[in-house]
Amino acid sequence: MSSYQSINPANNQLLKSWPSHDEAAVSHALEVADRLFHSDWSKGDIQPRLQVLHKLADLIDSRAEELATIASKEMGKLIGQSRGEVKICAQIARYYAEHAERILKPQSYPSELGEAWVEYHPIGVLVAVEPWNFPYYQLMRVLAPNLALGNPVLAKHANIVPHCADVFEKLVREAGAPEGAWTNLFISTDQVADLIADDRVQGVALTGSERAGSAVAQQAGKHLKKSTLELGGNDVFVVLDDADLDEAVRQGVQARLSNCGQVCTAAKRFILHEKIADRFISQFSAALSSVTLGDPLDEKTTLGPLSSSDARDRLVKQVDEAVAHGAQLVTGGKAVAGVGCYYQPTLLTGITPDNPAYYQEFFGPVAQVYVVGDDQAAVALANDSHYGLGGSVWTRDIARGRKLASAIETGMVFINSQSDTSAELPFGGVKRSGYGRELSDLGIKEFANQKLVVVS
Ligand code: NDP
Repeated sequence: MSSYQSINPANNQLLKSWPSHDEAAVSHALEVADRLFHSDWSKGDIQPRLQVLHKLADLIDSRAEELATIASKEMGKLIGQSRGEVKICAQIARYYAEHAERILKPQSYPSELGEAWVEYHPIGVLVAVEPWNFPYYQLMRVLAPNLALGNPVLAKHANIVPHCADVFEKLVREAGAPEGAWTNLFISTDQVADLIADDRVQGVALTGSERAGSAVAQQAGKHLKKSTLELGGNDVFVVLDDADLDEAVRQGVQARLSNCGQVCTAAKRFILHEKIADRFISQFSAALSSVTLGDPLDEKTTLGPLSSSDARDRLVKQVDEAVAHGAQLVTGGKAVAGVGCYYQPTLLTGITPDNPAYYQEFFGPVAQVYVVGDDQAAVALANDSHYGLGGSVWTRDIARGRKLASAIETGMVFINSQSDTSAELPFGGVKRSGYGRELSDLGIKEFANQKLVVVS
C-alpha cells in the first residue's frame, strides 16, 4: 500500500508519513457522507452549519502560527506567506458564515406563468481534488461554501501535503462539523475515479494541472456529474509607458516570486511597452538577483525552495529547453547546488512563438519578458495563450487600463495591482484554465440545485 509522505523541501528530510485509506475506509467514508446528506444537517436549518464556520474561523485564527509552520515545513512556503494563507482561510470561513444565508435566499423571477422563485438546495456528496500550492486555502475554497450549503465533501489532497490535509480535517471536526461533512482521504487517482463513478457522488471540484483536470472532467462527463476546474495560468503583467514604474517593479517581483512562483495566478509573462522596457528589465532583474534564498521558517529569507524535487526538476528542464530554443537569460537559469529544492530567480527574454516556452506555464520563479510597441500588440500577445486565468495591467490612465482589461481573454484582471484573492470576489478562468467559479456568491451556487418553483 502506498503512503502519503511529508517531506521538507528545504532539506529533503522525511517528516512523517500516513498510510493510504483502503477500499473499506473509502466505502465507509462515502456511506457516512451520503447519510449526512440525507439528514437534517444538510437539508435543515442553515444556522448550525454557519455556527460551525464561525467557530472554524476563530479556531484557525487562534492556531495560526502552528498551522503556518506546518505548511512551511511541508511545502516550503515562506513563513510570512503561510501566515497570510492561514489568515485568508479564516476570512473565507467567516465570509460564508456571515453571508451564505443572504446569498442562498430564494430569488423571485417575475413571470407570466405565476409567482415564481428559485430556491438553493445542496445536491449531494462532492469530491474535491486539490493541489499542494496553497494547502489550506484550496481546501477552504471548497469546504466553506459547501458546508454552508449542505454538501458533504470527500477530499483528496495532493500526496505531498498530508500533514496539512490531516490537520485541516481535524480542525473542521473540532469546530463542530459532524462526521462526513469534510472527510480527508489519502487515496490514489484510481480511487478518485471510482468515487466519481458512484451514484451517491453528485459533483467534483478540482484545482491542479491540465492533465489532472482533463482526466477528472472526463470521468465526471462520463458519469454525468457536474464539475468545476481551476487549472493553470500563464498570466500577463502588462506595464504601459505611463505606469508607476517603481511600484510596478515592486509588485511584479512579488507577483512572480510569491510562493516560490507556484501560484496559478502568478505573473508569468511580463509584457512591457517599449518606452519603459529597458528601465523595467534592469530594475526587475536587479531585484530578482538580490533575493535571499534560505529556510522558509527564517524571517530573513525572501525566496524558499520549490515544493518538491519533482517540481524543481520540471523547471530545470523547461528553462534548459527554452534556452536551447533561443531564449536569453538575463539572470538566473539554474537549480541551486546543495540540499533542498531551490531554483535561482530567473529572467528570460527573446522567447519567440516557435519556442516551446512561449505557451508553457513555468510553475516556479521564472519570468518571461516580452516588449511591445502599443496597447493593441499587448492585448494580442496576452490573448495568444491557451490559458485564460488572470492578469494585471499597469497604467496611470484608468480608462486605458479598463479598455485593456475588457479586451484580455481571462476570468480576472487587476488594474494597478498584482492578482489577489478575497472571499467576496469570484475566482476562476476561461480556456484551458478551466471553468466554474470559486468563492463569492458565484462559488456557493456551483454545486447548488437552483430549483424553480412556480405557483400559478
Ligand atoms: P497535479 O495536477 O498532478 O495535482 C493536483 C491534484 O490532482 C493532486 O491532488 C493530484 O494527486 C491530483 N491528480 C493528479 N492526477 C489525477 C488524476 N488523473 N485523477 C485524479 N486526481 C489527480 O499537479 P502537480 O502537483 O503534478 O503539478 C504539476 C503542474 O500542475 C504544475 O507545474 C502546475 O503547472 C500545475 N498546477 C496548478 C495548480 C493551480 O493552482 N492551478 C496547482 C498545482 C499544480 P497526487 O498529488 O496524488 O498526484
